[in-house]
Amino acid sequence: MLTKTRTLTQFLIEERRRFPEASGAFNSLVLAVALACKSLSKRVAHGALAGMYGAAGEVNVQGESQQKLDVLANDTFLHCLQWGGDARGMLSEEMEQPWINEVDGQGDYLLAFDPLDGSSNIDVNLSVGSVFSLLRAPEERKRAEARDFLQPGARQIAAGYAIYGPATMLVLTVGRGVYGFTLDPEIGEFLLTHPRMTIAPQTKEFAINASNSRFWEPPIKRYVEECLAGIHGPRGKDFNMRWIASLVAEAHRILTRGGVFMYPRDTKDPSKPGRLRLLYEANPIGMLIEQAGGRASTGSEPVLKVQPDSPHQRIGFVFGSREEVERIERYHAEPPTPELDTPLFNLRGLFRSNS
Ligand code: MN
Ligand code: MN
Repeated sequence: MLTKTRTLTQFLIEERRRFPEASGAFNSLVLAVALACKSLSKRVAHGALAGMYGAAGEVNVQGESQQKLDVLANDTFLHCLQWGGDARGMLSEEMEQPWINEVDGQGDYLLAFDPLDGSSNIDVNLSVGSVFSLLRAPEERKRAEARDFLQPGARQIAAGYAIYGPATMLVLTVGRGVYGFTLDPEIGEFLLTHPRMTIAPQTKEFAINASNSRFWEPPIKRYVEECLAGIHGPRGKDFNMRWIASLVAEAHRILTRGGVFMYPRDTKDPSKPGRLRLLYEANPIGMLIEQAGGRASTGSEPVLKVQPDSPHQRIGFVFGSREEVERIERYHAEPPTPELDTPLFNLRGLFRSNS
């Protein structure tokens, strides 16, 4: 197996040869992330035997109760990344304030991560993952500050995720396409198994949490209703629906076989304009999706263009097959037409409450 393919380390060395000015620090940082993911993969695979199920008894900055594995995953990332000193700062879903490198001027990069994505799936033994985003630290300061992370996603220099599924995979972009590596448990290395992952521009598959349908904005209602209307509706084809409730697993499915994912802005909780976090969920997944030829959007504009205003900011997120995402953006741009806005909930609508 090893003779036929490349390891993640070999891949990174080859990529680096294309950029003679690049330092080894970038590779060392990505490999430290990979090490954290390998370690977490082992922990997750032990399931209940690791004694890691259940709540940790703390509430994180998002107001969500932390699972024991959330805390362990965060500690694992910090531990693996602090040793090399290549990160000037680290922002995590599980920490209100970013970790700041105390050595002035040490580390050229900023890392933002969700150490364990989909952690509500842990207790039911479904796929979870880790997501990360790499930014360059601003040159004008020697010590990182929280505001340094507030860079649009288009400025990311690398992004990726690990998925802890039946197999553990690391999916990575350094800005030149998307590459998938599978962890070979025999030798403990990530091997390149999915070179140049791409997303077909069209699809017949969509993913959305339909229990929120009454809070959706009209363009999303219209889009979903047209999909549900199937072959006899305006789209003229039948669609399948999927929902895993783990961003990483949804992104991985779409990178593997296409589709569109929506967690749109809605009216459920006015304090949360969207559910997913911009800096360590939407931006890294958005970069991967765009690098694979798909499209990543807030629903109305490219997510990678958004200027962040706070480290833990939430945002509406729609991504996947290019033509579907463009259609959703078009529906947001069109002026609302009353007949089109509400058929979902009309007498003949698909979500009629007494049907
Ligand atoms: Mn998450
Ligand atoms: Mn998480």
